[in-house]
Amino acid sequence: METIRIESVVKTFGSVSALDGIDLEVRSGELFFLLGASGCGKTTLLRCIAGLETPTSGRVFFGERDVTQMPPHRREAAMVFQSYALWPHLTVAQNIAFGMEERKVPKKEIAARVEAALASVQLEGFGARSIDQMSGGQQQRVSLARALVVKPKCLLLDEPLSNLDAQLRVEMRREIRRIVKDNGLTAIYVTHDQEEALAMADRMAVLAGGRIAQVGTPEEIYRNPRSTHVARFIGETNFIDAEISTIEGALITTRSSAGCFTGRITDPNWSPAIGDKVRLSIRPEAWRLNASDDENSLTGYISERTYMGQRIQYWVDTPLGRQQVVEMNPHLIHVPGSDAKVMLHSRKDDVVILKP
Ligand code: ATP
Repeated sequence: METIRIESVVKTFGSVSALDGIDLEVRSGELFFLLGASGCGKTTLLRCIAGLETPTSGRVFFGERDVTQMPPHRREAAMVFQSYALWPHLTVAQNIAFGMEERKVPKKEIAARVEAALASVQLEGFGARSIDQMSGGQQQRVSLARALVVKPKCLLLDEPLSNLDAQLRVEMRREIRRIVKDNGLTAIYVTHDQEEALAMADRMAVLAGGRIAQVGTPEEIYRNPRSTHVARFIGETNFIDAEISTIEGALITTRSSAGCFTGRITDPNWSPAIGDKVRLSIRPEAWRLNASDDENSLTGYISERTYMGQRIQYWVDTPLGRQQVVEMNPHLIHVPGSDAKVMLHSRKDDVVILKP
């Protein structure tokens, strides 16, 4: 296990600034996610950590070792790619052994390590098969085994599940987490898929425009997004424009064109003032239907309703725009039909007040 530390990393490609001053510490044994919209710099950061790119400035440390200028094969980090990068004309065992033959590991040891790597991805007995006889999910397991066989301290994963179908992706989430934890690896995982990150990560960083927008556990980021960008990117949310009217300690009351909303701020670097324009973020499941109160309430009409088994999703037209509302376990409640007039209510703790 090893800590990975990134200090003031900048990477430019000609006039394009891909990373614009990244500081980050990934703890030893952590499964850490890099998330963000296309082009935000996730892959470039992962490649700088792997040694496939050299930062324009700044440093990368594995434990106490400064690896910034070190070639990839000396970093004790293995990488798993979206494309698997397997040799189709070699067997499963030959693919896994490939890196070790290059490193001149004795033949007997190679065979034992290949067997152990196959066992750790639950593919015992598949060594003699050719790659084209393996399913997509099995091929991804082979590429994981190939990464593990060199006994890395760190595992770097670049969208490892995006070529799999939806059901297999969900199964492989638990499998990758198990492999990382069983092998005591520090792992960094790049994905577009915020659901994958919420389900798997110990912690994550949301990147935007080559910078880190926020770092935290999935729950911290979902519950306490510090900017409209993070609130929009992780999970779904409703935004309401308002203006601060009173501040009482941590509780802040705002005035909108359709009533008052009290909530809390999440950005520790912001000292709000009365009169500030703000944007409220209220998650779809934070709106409760027909639970009225004077404050934090909004009247509207259901314009759309989608039954999804364990939950119902509504679109409610209100004077503050369309609100998305999710009711969990619809079998236990009275479900209003389309066009019904409803009162939405949100707890103060569920109203996050952000700079617009
Ligand atoms: P995606 O999710 O689409 O893969 P990303 O967040 O991984 O995106 P990067 O691939 O890191 O983003 O790219 C960050 C920025 O750097 C983008 O503007 C991209 O066009 C640019 N970039 C990346 N690699 C190169 C390169 N080799 N040459 C020039 N520009 C590059």
